[in-house]
Amino acid sequence: MPETIYSIPVNDAWSDPSSELCPLCQLSEELEKSQLDFYLSPAQMDVAIRKRCNQNGFCPVHLHALYGAENNRLTLALMLSTRLAQLRENWNGALDAAAKSESAISMFKRRESKKEALALADQLADCSGTNCLICSAMEDWMGHYLNVIIRQYESSPEFVEHFRKRSLCLPHCEKLLRYASQKFSGKVLADLNAVLAGQIKSRLGELEADLQRFTAKFDYRNEAMPWENAKDAVPRSIRYLKGED
Ligand SMILES: [Zn+2]
Ligand SMILES: [Zn+2]
Repeated sequence: MPETIYSIPVNDAWSDPSSELCPLCQLSEELEKSQLDFYLSPAQMDVAIRKRCNQNGFCPVHLHALYGAENNRLTLALMLSTRLAQLRENWNGALDAAAKSESAISMFKRRESKKEALALADQLADCSGTNCLICSAMEDWMGHYLNVIIRQYESSPEFVEHFRKRSLCLPHCEKLLRYASQKFSGKVLADLNAVLAGQIKSRLGELEADLQRFTAKFDYRNEAMPWENAKDAVPRSIRYLKGED
C-alpha cells in the first residue's frame, strides 16, 4: 500500500494547531467511521468478507455502533443471520452435551455437568468480541499511523513543529511512548519524551485549574466570577483521561 495512505491522514490530523482534540483520537474516529460504513455497504455481500464476519463477528461496542448507524439495516440483518447460523454450527457439540446433562442425577454425572457448563461457557466466549473485525482493523491502521508519526518526527522539522502544538490524550501518549521506545533511541527519543512530558504536565495543570474554577462556581459567593474555560472542564478532563468515545 502506498505510504501516502497513512501519511496524508497523519499530516491532516496535526494540521490545525487550534484544535483541542487529540490527533490520534481524531484519526481513530475517522477509521472507525470508515470501517462501520464498509461493513454496512454492499461489500458485505462479498463471499470472503461475509465468511470473515461469520467467523469473527464484532465486539459489543461495534455491534451497537453498526445498529446505531441506522444505515442499511438489511445488510446488518443478513450479516447477523449468517453469523448466528455459524455460531450454532460451531457450538453444536457443546450445546448437545449440555442439553443431555439436564437428566444427570448421579455424582459422576454432576461432575460431568460442571465440565459441560465450563465447556459451553468457553464456546460462548467466542462471541465476546475479542476477534472483532473493526477493532483489529483499527489496531492495524493505528500501528501504521504510529510508524508514520515516528518516521516524520525523525525526518521532518515541519511535522515536529506541528506535533509540539497539539497534545495527545493520556491513553494515546502511553501508546506512542511505548511504540517510540521500540523504534527510537538517543537524542530523538529524549526529545520526544521531553515534548510529551511537557505537554502532559501543562495539560494536567490547565485541567486541574479549570476543575477548581468549576467547583468554585458552585459557591454562591462566586456568582460574579467569570467561567473562563471552566464550563466544560468535566467532559474535557474525562476525554483527556480516557480518549474520545
Ligand atoms: Zn487520543
Ligand atoms: Zn470492536
